[in-house]
Amino acid sequence: MYDVRSPRAEEFIDHAEVMATVQYAREHARDAALLDDILARAAERKGLNHRDASVLLACELPEKTEALYRLAQRIKLDFYGNRIVMFAPLYLSNHCINSCVYCPYHAKNRHIVRKKLTQEEVAREVIALQDMGHKRLALEAGEHPTMNPIEYILECIETIYGIRHRNGAIRRVNVNIAATTVEEYALLRKAGIGTYILFQETYHRQSYEKLHPVGPKHDYAWHTEAMDRAMQGGIDDVGLGVLFGLEGYRYEFAALLMHAEHLEAAYGVGPHTISVPRIKRADDIDPDMFDNGIDDATFARICACIRVAVPYTGMIVSTRESQAVREMVLPLGISQISGASRTSVGGYVAPEEPEENSSQFDVSDRRSLDEVVRWLMEQGHIPSFCTACYREGRTGDRFMALCKSRQILNCCHPNALLTLREYLEDYASPATRTLGLACIERELERIPGDKVRGRAREYLDRIAHGERDFRF
Ligand code: SF4
Ligand code: SF4
Repeated sequence: MYDVRSPRAEEFIDHAEVMATVQYAREHARDAALLDDILARAAERKGLNHRDASVLLACELPEKTEALYRLAQRIKLDFYGNRIVMFAPLYLSNHCINSCVYCPYHAKNRHIVRKKLTQEEVAREVIALQDMGHKRLALEAGEHPTMNPIEYILECIETIYGIRHRNGAIRRVNVNIAATTVEEYALLRKAGIGTYILFQETYHRQSYEKLHPVGPKHDYAWHTEAMDRAMQGGIDDVGLGVLFGLEGYRYEFAALLMHAEHLEAAYGVGPHTISVPRIKRADDIDPDMFDNGIDDATFARICACIRVAVPYTGMIVSTRESQAVREMVLPLGISQISGASRTSVGGYVAPEEPEENSSQFDVSDRRSLDEVVRWLMEQGHIPSFCTACYREGRTGDRFMALCKSRQILNCCHPNALLTLREYLEDYASPATRTLGLACIERELERIPGDKVRGRAREYLDRIAHGERDFRF
């Protein structure tokens, strides 16, 4: 029985409710009056429930779809402005006891080299990332109780936060590790992580169990209720995501929003971010094995629908997607992207080594961070290395309140300029620097208040003279 507040996965992601939603959406895909009504409510910028958003996703009327895209673009600018936050994944270990059939790190894959970074290797990877200009990382590790216990992850976090190399610093560490206990989530919180991210992979229970035949991840409820335990452990910023391509996308979309509604109803805080990965080729994995791949147009529509359904939730697209696809979806509501990612263990220190046999998935966008930063500016975005909220205690409901009232933009926009300026001073190529300085001058004029603009100018000047780490 569907119950949005229930602590039980089978009740807050009730299969019958998801199926009924998909059916309802299909039946109303050409219902112009209903679509207009939903779009009008979405324009109030308070979000949509999973049923209404699913109707938009199913919409078969081209002019309504166009209206959806226009609205997604406006909402994206209203809530996030034109900044795009940058991050990089850092793979710590590919030892894993699970059996996810879409991931080359699955326990039975004997082709790949298994590797776990020592603390010295973590430090070398982090210095390589700092030397590119990264300030925000997402830690990734397989599930392995003896090779990658929580103590190892905590030690890595301490190492990462402790490294200062030239002007480099990792200021925010997000963590993407297997579902765990309330006690271990509390330890992650104490270690100062930003967001805890866990992809659901698929919300369809039967498929989930088939795709994860053995290992602790086989337990659908344990995995799906992980965010509840994370919240109980004191982590108030959590990141959801499904791996599009494993199951029917309409099912995943409705269930993903039901998960967001559950967190909001049960804990008063919706997800901090939603990631939208699509299944990719990798060693031992052929995406054609899965029947539910989605084309680029459907992918764009999913992004637009998420944006209007949960305007206050950040949306992340990774280097799994090509430059062309990223260009298409960025204006539709993406707020964070990865850049210059390596998806193998130790891949930043030895970037010239081919990754194909040890990476978790093939990277489609292989450009350097400098190229990505320049490209973002050429597309009219401000690349941002901001990590301010977490460091200022703006997390969980405090963050959501600022985001829902759209005041967060007063921080995001100037912080984007400050951190871009740091990047230009310390890491940029001459061409990127020239473009970046012009971008900052132009964007400074768009800061509405004289006081904030004046302070931003002062901080920018001090950054140019060697000081670092200012924030609003
Ligand atoms: Fe292990 Fe994660 Fe890969 Fe599954 S997806 S095999 S849990 S590393
Ligand atoms: Fe993110 Fe907060 Fe920085 Fe905005 S001000 S970019 S929400 S950390």
